[in-house]
Amino acid sequence: MRILQALRNKSIREGLLRSLGNLGAMVEENLKRYPYLLEYAEELKAAKLEVARNYDYWLDKAVRRAEEKASVYIAKDGEEACRIIGDIIGRGKLIVKAKSMVSEEIGLRSYLEAENEVWETDLGELIIQLSNQKPMHVIAPAVHFSEREVIRILGKLGIEGRNAEELAMAVRNFLRQKFLKADFGISGCNAFAVETARIFLVENEGNIRLTTSLPKAYIAIVSLEKLLPNDELALKSIIVQSAFVGTFPPSYINIPERDGTHIVFLDNGRSEVEEGLEEQLTCVKCGRCQLECPVYQIIGNVWGGETYSGPMGIGWSAITNTLENSYDMLFLCTLCGKCEEICPMKIDIPRIIRHLRKTLAISEDPHEPPPKKVKFFKNQG
Ligand code: SF4
Repeated sequence: MRILQALRNKSIREGLLRSLGNLGAMVEENLKRYPYLLEYAEELKAAKLEVARNYDYWLDKAVRRAEEKASVYIAKDGEEACRIIGDIIGRGKLIVKAKSMVSEEIGLRSYLEAENEVWETDLGELIIQLSNQKPMHVIAPAVHFSEREVIRILGKLGIEGRNAEELAMAVRNFLRQKFLKADFGISGCNAFAVETARIFLVENEGNIRLTTSLPKAYIAIVSLEKLLPNDELALKSIIVQSAFVGTFPPSYINIPERDGTHIVFLDNGRSEVEEGLEEQLTCVKCGRCQLECPVYQIIGNVWGGETYSGPMGIGWSAITNTLENSYDMLFLCTLCGKCEEICPMKIDIPRIIRHLRKTLAISEDPHEPPPKKVKFFKNQG
């Protein structure tokens, strides 16, 4: 049913193809102009795999370094992360949020909204919040809405404008008041340098800069795959992420260092990946595989996992233990291999999907034991 509805929705296809046209050309241009980006990506993949093989070691080191400058917490899953953040915040507070897929993964906004006032500060994500949908794309969450639809959605807040520029200005004025009064700012993390305990954040709107600096306190959610040994690799990670989605150089790179910082390290399945899925942990969540996927271009975020859609969404759903809700999606993939070809990390997503199909087939056989959940990497710390 969801698939049929998506097939009938022309604006999904128009929005995605428009983005692919704009951003895809910019990725090609970036790679032509800065060929070292491919070397960065290769170096990054090796580093991310190395860290993934030793998450216990790197997390322990990250916690010790982070404790020198912040209050630090470790959450084993989304429920625990929400509880920790809810306890830090309390009730009746004003919260401004940066766009963060990991906060979508754990359902943080709706958890906090039960007892607080929460505002998304990325324009696209604010539109998603008001329309009560899930993001269409990891970097461009509201890409499927037409200008007319955006005018209607923002009208719910009394925000008016005749075109994109006027609307953006009106949203800016609206959010500025929230930034100034906010008790807490919350962000995810694009990369975390363990050696210095620095949080690296990349953006194009300037809202993350305000979210992390203006409120009285700041909370960062750092999922384990964001850990990298040092500043250099963390910087390379956000450069690769930006370049491969076509927004390079990014307008802002933030490294928030301030009093009142809380860092929540989130595992949620990452330290215990199922055999065959480890490569997905090197993903920088640039979203390029989403835009280039022929199935995604037709039905958008219906294809993929609950939180993470498109080709990368399948692996991430398996890692974060939500794949059972989207098993049928495994069979929509054409295995064309485009995702692997354009992925900066060269993640063999078709292999991951074939592996998961096989796992599903095994688990449907009543004589076979259910798929074994094994820790793929041994802690060598
Ligand atoms: S799987 Fe590759 S292309 Fe897709 S989001 Fe991750 S890094 Fe980007």
